[in-house]
Amino acid sequence: MTSTQAQVPSDRHPLVLVINSGSSSLKFALVTPEGGEIVVSGLAERLNSPDALLEIKSAEGSKESYAISTAGHAEALDEMLRHLSSYHIDAVGHRVVNGGEKFNASILLDDDSETAIAACSDIAPVHAPANALGIHVARKKFPELPQVAVFDTAFHQSIPEHAFRYGVPDEWYETHRVRKYGFHGTSHWFVSTQAAALLRKSPEELQVLTAHLGNGSSVCAIREGKSVDTSMGFTPLEGLVMGTRCGDIDANVLPFIQQRTGLPLSEIIDILNKKSGLLGISGISSDMRTLLAAEVSGNEKARLAVEIFCYKLARNLLALTAALDRVDALIFTGGIGENSSVVRHRTLDHLRILGPVLDPELNASNGASATDIRGRISTVDSRLLVLVVPTNEELVIARETANLLHS
Ligand code: ADP
Repeated sequence: MTSTQAQVPSDRHPLVLVINSGSSSLKFALVTPEGGEIVVSGLAERLNSPDALLEIKSAEGSKESYAISTAGHAEALDEMLRHLSSYHIDAVGHRVVNGGEKFNASILLDDDSETAIAACSDIAPVHAPANALGIHVARKKFPELPQVAVFDTAFHQSIPEHAFRYGVPDEWYETHRVRKYGFHGTSHWFVSTQAAALLRKSPEELQVLTAHLGNGSSVCAIREGKSVDTSMGFTPLEGLVMGTRCGDIDANVLPFIQQRTGLPLSEIIDILNKKSGLLGISGISSDMRTLLAAEVSGNEKARLAVEIFCYKLARNLLALTAALDRVDALIFTGGIGENSSVVRHRTLDHLRILGPVLDPELNASNGASATDIRGRISTVDSRLLVLVVPTNEELVIARETANLLHS
């Protein structure tokens, strides 16, 4: 038993503080890794601005907001901890978006690994400095606590070279590490292992496709428990049409738009990341629920945005079948994947070649009413088994943290 375990009295469950640090935000959740309960969670956003705000959400769902004007990451963490003072935190788990090729598993943080994560900013200039800052302030705040980094990219390090390389000059990879890294790894891993448990199989017996559909969306081919291909690439911009990201696009569009509009490249990239996707096509919103409601009231652009989303999703799923021998299950997850029967239905309409037959009632209940395999939304005799499996990235990070401490 490690000294960390010894600190936890036997009458209480260990608590892991899960931190997700963005460039102007800090998300946190206090999680019991065993039971998977989120005891309290929150979000500090608009950091370093006069409108900085901290929102704390209780396990029962009640929310309270506090103005934390001009607070940066360190001050936001202090403020958060004031609200957590009645809890005993045993360890901290950090979500790290890009671990590059250095990290193919979660790690216990020390000075060297903190430096190595910060160094990933050469390939991840948006996410790595933000993640590194969160790690830095938390390690300063809790020097006595074990802290773990869990990487979104680690699960995808098993993707073979013919799938992770782009068709660009060799030097771009050899010198600059331009390749597919893939993201949402914790979610793809989690829902695929959950699905294996629901099917009473081990992940090694299965070949599945997973579709994580939230504000950011990606699909993954998982063969015998390992990621073998995914839709996101060097950055999370590639692949599906997302809330505000464009997904796959011909690179020649960039100089074309630059020449036509006079916009600098940085602004064009910003548009592709933050003003495209569902938001850009519809001109209304990046939020799927809002678009589905607008479509019902006759908004044609909203209908088109949803249709493009579903078609590109199906197309990317079919592309991933190249990495598999068969598809034992297609798993939907994320806010859209778990909740939108309409998106699932329309996507499956484009996947006829795989032979899915939806059960409309099961689909309407997001699979909750299936009695044999929880989450099943396809009929019993459907050629393709389709499941809805809720993701829980905070729980994965909390468990990874606890496992690393115990190993
Ligand atoms: P994030 O990627 O930020 O974690 P989520 O996984 O929570 O986001 O997904 C957010 C998306 O899920 C939004 O587009 C939201 O509209 C969509 N969503 C949530 N509930 C529903 C629903 N009932 N029907 C359709 N879309 C939904």
